[in-house]
Amino acid sequence: MSDTSPTLLHLNRPTKVGREAEYIAEVVANEDLGEYSKYLLKCETFLKDMMGCAHPLLVSSCTHALEIAAMLLDIKPGDEVIMPSFTFVSTGNAFALRGATLVFIDVRRDTLCMDETLLEAAITPKTRAIVPVHYAGIACAMDEIMAIARNHNIPVIEDAAHSIFASYKGRALGTMGAMGTLSFDIMKNICAGGQGGALVVNDAQYLARAEIMINKGTNRLAFQRGEESQYEWKDIGSFYAMSALNAAYLYANMEEAETIQSHRMMLWNNYHRAFKWLADAGHITLPFVPEACEHNAHIYFIRVKDRTQRDAFIAFMREQNVTVAFHFVPLHVSAGGKQYGGAGSALDVTVEAADTLVRLPVFYGFSLEEQRYVLEAVLRFWA
Ligand SMILES: *Cc1c(COP(=O)(O)O)cnc(C)c1O
Repeated sequence: MSDTSPTLLHLNRPTKVGREAEYIAEVVANEDLGEYSKYLLKCETFLKDMMGCAHPLLVSSCTHALEIAAMLLDIKPGDEVIMPSFTFVSTGNAFALRGATLVFIDVRRDTLCMDETLLEAAITPKTRAIVPVHYAGIACAMDEIMAIARNHNIPVIEDAAHSIFASYKGRALGTMGAMGTLSFDIMKNICAGGQGGALVVNDAQYLARAEIMINKGTNRLAFQRGEESQYEWKDIGSFYAMSALNAAYLYANMEEAETIQSHRMMLWNNYHRAFKWLADAGHITLPFVPEACEHNAHIYFIRVKDRTQRDAFIAFMREQNVTVAFHFVPLHVSAGGKQYGGAGSALDVTVEAADTLVRLPVFYGFSLEEQRYVLEAVLRFWA
């Protein structure tokens, strides 16, 4: 390739490994569209085996999984929920929907995950949930967070949207808190053909009610299993179940998980090796993976000097026909975050991360040749 890529290189593309259309066609041909559809069951079994969890409930998105978690905890107006500001909107929105006040604490400079040393001070008598987010599939310090939560008897909901296939001390992310939430949207490592997610219920006391909330507040599943004599309204809820067609797409991805993950890990490691000297020279900061964590190559990012350099770098890459992006507008500076929450600590690291972080393309189907082009373009910026 020349100095300018002939085609625009994307930051991400939905994972597509081959059999998605075949499985969807099979579901359609068999009219296998109900809640016990073959691929829904296969996806559930895959998650149980891979994560070592008993109750992964397939839902329509991680956003919905977080909303269900908030309902299960009976979050009410006046309750406080502690979370990082450095996260996606849905982490906050799910609890704001129930009237909670969001309490934003800072992230660690090394991992960009919730800073566990700030947690204790943010807890008040009104705290009803703690929501760590495993940024880029690199785990929060879960032993410390869980110990503090246990001392105060506060449930932990892990936002593991980034984190399928990632682990902490051998435990899958999303399996340590009372509940964990997974995403299979088009930006994540495996995809349910548009949108999809899972609510991983680890504390079994929430299970029966979760099933009802996912199925429009009814006892539909218990009735179908013959456990209840009539089908009726039981509780609040909505229609949060994953569709059979989405599950067919998702299972085609799950089946090829090793292929997908080895490709992503290769891309991640290539960036990491190629940029080491830039980091050693003090130009950029690279991702840090603590000893306890096995990450999943969900995101590769670099952190540059400041916001001015970030914008210049993004514009430079755009001129070379490469899409790169910053991540995220922190919740506490966004209009929604200001309305529904406030600072529970200083948020300097969050602001700095949002100003300086740039994501580079990582996806299944991103070729080594394309990556080499991106690597050379990045190096040209600092040449
Ligand atoms: C993607 C994402 C979500 C939402 O996932 P959806 O499946 O798109 O609803 C929630 N939290 C974080 C941190 C995310 O990155």
